[in-house]
Formats: sequence, C-alpha cells, structure tokens
Amino acid sequence: PLSTTETIEPQRICVCVRKRPFNKQEINKKEIDVVSVPGKGALLVHEPKHKVDLTKYLDNQVFHFDYSFDETATNELVYKFTAKPLVQSIFEGGMATCFAYGQTGSGKTHTMGGDFTGKQQNSAKGIYALAAQDVFAYLHHRRYANLDLSAYVSFFEIYNGKVYDLLHKKAKLRVLEDERQQVQVVGLEEVYVTSAEEVIKMIQIGSSCRTSGQTSANANSSRSHAILQIVLRRNDRATTLHGKFSLIDLAGNERGTDVSSNDRSTLVETAEINRSLLALKECIRSLGKNSDHIPFRMSTLTKVLRDSFIGEKSRTCMIAMVSPGMTSCEYTMNTLRYADRYV
Ligand code: ADP
Ligand code: MG
Repeated sequence: PLSTTETIEPQRICVCVRKRPFNKQEINKKEIDVVSVPGKGALLVHEPKHKVDLTKYLDNQVFHFDYSFDETATNELVYKFTAKPLVQSIFEGGMATCFAYGQTGSGKTHTMGGDFTGKQQNSAKGIYALAAQDVFAYLHHRRYANLDLSAYVSFFEIYNGKVYDLLHKKAKLRVLEDERQQVQVVGLEEVYVTSAEEVIKMIQIGSSCRTSGQTSANANSSRSHAILQIVLRRNDRATTLHGKFSLIDLAGNERGTDVSSNDRSTLVETAEINRSLLALKECIRSLGKNSDHIPFRMSTLTKVLRDSFIGEKSRTCMIAMVSPGMTSCEYTMNTLRYADRYV
C-alpha cells in the first residue's frame, strides 16, 4: 500500500486514479461496488459478486496507472503522490499542472477544492490549499530565499470556451496570442498573497462566485473548468515570471448522449466540453511523445495552458476520479479509457 513516508520524484507526466467511497444515499440504495484497487497503480472494474447481467459493459478490466488510490485514501495521501512533487519544480523555474478529471459526482472538487459548498468551508484540506501551504514553506526556506520571489494567485473559469475571472466578479476576459505565440488572458486579476490562509480566502471567494445565482451548485459548476494558478514572480522591476502552478478542476466528462434534454444550450455546452477534453488529451499525448507539435490551439483550455505545456521543465499530473457504483460503470470505463491512453 502507498504510504506518506515515501519520497516521490516528479515525472514529466504522471497519471493517477482515485476511487471515492460510497455516500449515504448510495449505501441506502444498496449500490453495488464494481471498482477495486488490487495494488499500487492498478485498478480493476469487475463483476459484482451478486448474479447480475452486466455483459453490456463489464469484462473484468484492469487498468494501469502511476498510482491508484482506493476509497480509504485521504486528500493528503493523494496530494503527496500527485501535486506535491510538482511544487519544487516551480521553484526551479518550471511550470506545473495538475488536473482532476472525471464524471460529475466522482470527487474532483472534493479532491481539489476540499468540499467547498459555498457556505460550509472545508477548503483547507483540498489539493489547492495543500499546494499553497507547501509553496509558502518553500518560499520561506533558505534554499530558495536568495531567489527573492513573491507569490500571486489567479482563479478563473472556462465556460463554453469563454474565460471568466472568479476573483473579479466573474468578469469576462479575452484570450490573446501575440506574434511570439505568447498567450495572455487580458486583465486577469493576480492577487499578491503572503500566506496559505490568504490563498484559501481567495479560493473561497472564487468558489462562491462560481456557483452563486444558480439553483444547483454542482450542476452549474460541473459544466465549467476551474483553474487556480499560483504564480511565482521575481521581485524585480518587471516582476518577471519565475514559475507557475496550475491546478484544474475540469468540467464533468459525461457525454451528452444519454441526456434526455434536447435543450440546445446543453448540447452546445456538452460539445464544447468534449472538444476541450479531447484537446487536452491530444496535448498531453504529444507531451508524452516529446513531440514538437502540441495542438494547444484546439480549445480555450489548452490555449491558456500553453506556457505550461511547453518547456523542458514543465510537469503534468492527471488524477482521474471514479465513482465506485455499478450505475456509474459506463462513465467509469470512459474515464479509465481516457486516462489509460496517456501512459
Ligand atoms: P465532482 O466535483 O467530481 O462533481 P464532488 O467532489 O462534488 O464531485 O463529489 C461529490 C460528492 O461526493 C460530494 O458530496 C463529496 O463530498 C463526496 N466525495 C467525493 N470524493 C470523496 C472522498 N474521497 N471521500 C469522501 N467524500 C467524497
Ligand atoms: Mg465539482
């Protein structure tokens, strides 16, 4: 089993999977568990012990990842093997990116934001906050003191290909690419921060901005990608960029095919999400093959992450989230197939 005492070297690309526990409703409904984590890095989707005809989707499939986490894993454990090794790389002048991928309800926001529901605030235990704590620990460490760096945060959302600033009243922002192919989100708020607590405050402000005014918080936020960036800048006159950590709570990857609604806006939304997730996959695959051509122009998501994808020092981690139940099986298989092909 994975333990918190191992030391982890960051890899260029790391792909992990996390199975969440059943919730109370699922237990009450006697949902059947079809996901097992038989060992480090392996995940098995299997037939339940009960006699049920599952021939439609189940053929006892094993998938392999860098790490797999079962339902007993805490956010701290997941963090330790995924985002934590990337913190060092931003101090060494690199770019780091950590994605949470999976169907709505599989645990992306729980993992990244730490169960932020708008009112109850338990964001201190999510990967966003854990990463922020380590960033400040490094910032104050004598090894990096002579770099003379400051930290800033931005928090924005991409919905239907448009960028909205979560730290500035959801202002709609433009994405520009200059002649040197530098991509910029024009006017994106970058807040100077001096402690993890301040970052957590920004996460809370941004998260409530993300969900306000909607009937169902999850239904709304599940259709957009949320991107928290912790940026390191040198304390020189130009506040030169030193390193950047992007932590991304992706839109739910469920396909629109089984959505009963013929609602046009839902279809457009779904098409856009599928397009951006496909683009992301293509970009990460090109990174994995050390290809010179990275198709970042395919979507707004990959466009704004362009500078994180290029460069020798960039590091990427993908955490695929899965629900344990049989009723989610089809989505679970989609998620696993998507993540599996990276490795
Ligand atoms: P998503 O963001 O992928 O739609 P959420 O993170 O909102 O999913 O998770 C759905 C529900 O399941 C939430 O109530 C959340 O608290 C709970 N949950 C998710 N992952 C875990 C976990 N590892 N342990 C306990 N509860 C979890
Ligand atoms: Mg969510």
